[in-house]
This record gives sequence, C-alpha cells and structure tokens, in this order.
Amino acid sequence: MKLALIGFGQAGGKIVDEFLAYDSAIDNSFVEAAIAVNSATTDLRGLDHVPQENRVLIGQARVKGHGVGADNELGAAVTEADIDEIQGAIDRVPVHEIDAFLIVAGMGGGTGSGGAPVLARHLKRIHTEPVYGLGILPGTDEGGIYTLNAARSFKTLVDEVDNLLVFDNDAWRSAGESVGSGYDRINREIVERFGLLFAAGEVGQNDHVAESVVDSSEIINTLESGVSTIGYASETVESANDGLLSSFRSDTEFDEGTATNRMTSLVRKATLGRLTLPCDAASADRGLVVATGSPEHLNRKGVERGRQWLEDETGSMEIRGGDYPLPGRDDVGAIVLLSGVTAVPRIDQLQQVAIEAQETTETVRANAQEDFATLVDTGGELDALF
Ligand code: GDP
Repeated sequence: MKLALIGFGQAGGKIVDEFLAYDSAIDNSFVEAAIAVNSATTDLRGLDHVPQENRVLIGQARVKGHGVGADNELGAAVTEADIDEIQGAIDRVPVHEIDAFLIVAGMGGGTGSGGAPVLARHLKRIHTEPVYGLGILPGTDEGGIYTLNAARSFKTLVDEVDNLLVFDNDAWRSAGESVGSGYDRINREIVERFGLLFAAGEVGQNDHVAESVVDSSEIINTLESGVSTIGYASETVESANDGLLSSFRSDTEFDEGTATNRMTSLVRKATLGRLTLPCDAASADRGLVVATGSPEHLNRKGVERGRQWLEDETGSMEIRGGDYPLPGRDDVGAIVLLSGVTAVPRIDQLQQVAIEAQETTETVRANAQEDFATLVDTGGELDALF
C-alpha cells in the first residue's frame, strides 16, 4: 500500500530514514512521500534519505532549534503552534495517491511523544485517508520520565489515530550492546517487519497469481481500530537441486505437503514468538497472515492452514490471509498482523510505573517548593532591595 510517512522527533525521523532505505532496496515503493519533523536542528541534519525540503523544523520561536528536552507537553505545544509549517510539507504530498498516513514517533521523548497526537488529530480533521501511528515504547531502564511520557503519549495517541502499531524497545534490546548500535539494529528489525507488511499490499495485481496476493484493502480492514502488533518468522528453503534432495527430485518439482506444513509452522512461530509488542495473541480482534517468498515455494493451502490456525488461536472470525510473492528469494516467511489486541502486560506495567512516577514527581515538586521557601525565609528580619 502507498504511504505518506511522517517521522516525528529523533527516533521517528531515524526510522523513516530507514524505511526509505528499505523501500529502495526492495524496489517496491510503498513509500509515496517521507517527511521528518523535529524541534532539534541537529537531529534533522543527521538524516540520510529524507529529502531536504521535507525536513520541517518546528518550535524555533520557543526552543531555537535546540529541541524540547524530554518535555512532551512542550512538544505538543510547539507542534500546535507550528502546525502550518508541517501542513506546508504535507501539501506537497499527492494525497490522492496514498492509501494512508503513518506517523512514526518514539513515545518516551518530547517532540515525537507530544507532537504525534497533535499531528494525528490535525490530519484526521483534514483528510479522509486513514491515519496510523507507529509508536516506539522506551526501554524499562530509561527511567521514570520516559515511562511517564510514553504512558501519557500512548493514552492520547491511541484516541487520535485509526490504529496504533506498537514496537517495544524493551523487548528487543540485547545485553552488552551500545545504545547507538542497538538502535541501528532495532530500527532494521522494525523496518523489516512493518516494511514487509506495507510492501505486501503494494504488489501489482498482474505481477503474480492475482487472487492470492494481499491487497491494501485487507491491511486497511485489519487495521480498522485499536492497537496492533506484528510477528514474523522465516526460514531458508533448500532448493530442489541442493543437498540430499537433489537425488530424488527434479528442479521444478513442488512438494505441496512440505510447503503447507512449513507455512503453518511459520505462522505459529511468528504468532507465538517475539512480537513487536509482546501480548497474548488470543486477545486479538482481527488478524492478517501474509506468506512471503518466491512464488514456487508458496501454496494457497499453506496460507489457508495458517489462517485457520490463527482463527482457532484467537477465536476471531476476522482473520485474513494472502501472499506477498518475492521472486528469486531463497527464504519463505510469515508475517502475522494482530490487531485490536487487549491483553498487553507491558502496557499495564508502563501505566503502573507512570502513575507512580507522576505521584513521585508531584511530591518532589511540592517538597522542593517548601524547601526553597524555607531557604529564603528570614522571618521578616531582612529587607529585599525592591
Ligand atoms: P524526541 O526527539 O524528543 O521525540 O525524542 P527521541 O525520539 O530522541 O526519544 C524518544 C524515545 O525514543 C527514547 O526514549 C528511546 O526509547 C527511543 N529512541 C530514540 N532513538 C531511537 C532509535 O533510533 N530507535 C528506536 N527504536 N528507538 C529510539
């Protein structure tokens, strides 16, 4: 499907940059337009692929290009004030050619965390195309303020977008990795999953077996509302002229049973393995199974079995399925999109820690005011200058 991507804040901008690299590498062009919005000049300068004219600096009057720190209320305020600057960039997007907007933001910081919900509300007011969010949750080790920001941003954003796709940094970090290289790896994981999904809906209907290819309307219907997560599993396929099999099979022979079992097991692995937002898959309202790989390794029965398995697993009757043919690839994969998920322990935990952080912040602030009053108080015995 065709998307207008808007990266908000540092994480949002970097991930949109990575989406552009991925899009051109797979030669698919599901990215119709890419915009980066930030209150920090240096973050915008650090991008490699977002066109210069689509980099929008906001909040200059208040923060002079230095960013909003981790103050997401300020992030929301400067976005509100400079919404026309962002609209100026959106005006250049051929909106009639896109299927949806996707706003990408780290939810724990300031600019993206506060700005994404403001922009989502604005876009929904003006355009009829769906507006999706891709929200990145902070790691649990990032501290109270990031957790509080993320919980407040999540609560706000989920009501402003048609669907909030979530990626949890915490579930994807690796021990012993530096923050920088960690993010580079994580960003590739994000883009591979969400990129494969969106690219899947962009395959020309006459490219391959038309009726089994996933259509963008199936993605849109699956993303009708709520919160979504993605699972992905893949494996290398031994082609018929590799290894032991070569002595038994011809090059073109297709083993229906093997392909079906492989796909069913990949769908199961994708669903029950590490999701972008870990949750109980059974709580999903809707789902979409996409089989990826070279057409000669895909069969309709495999997707159908995988789809049925997911239907049983979720108890939902709204599980869609289809192919994303990638000719020449030696791996076969399954993308599972779970939408309308509700049993998400990470969100409960985030909200709990945020409520505690909010209470602690209020107490510390009140105490600090009292302490300061005591510090400057001389019991009326000293006169100020004026
Ligand atoms: P902003 O510029 O004020 O919107 O804030 P940032 O985007 O810098 O940071 C917000 C949050 O995003 C942080 O708490 C991190 O959890 C996360 N983050 C920052 N950079 C990256 C990145 O490159 N990739 C990912 N996955 N997360 C990031």
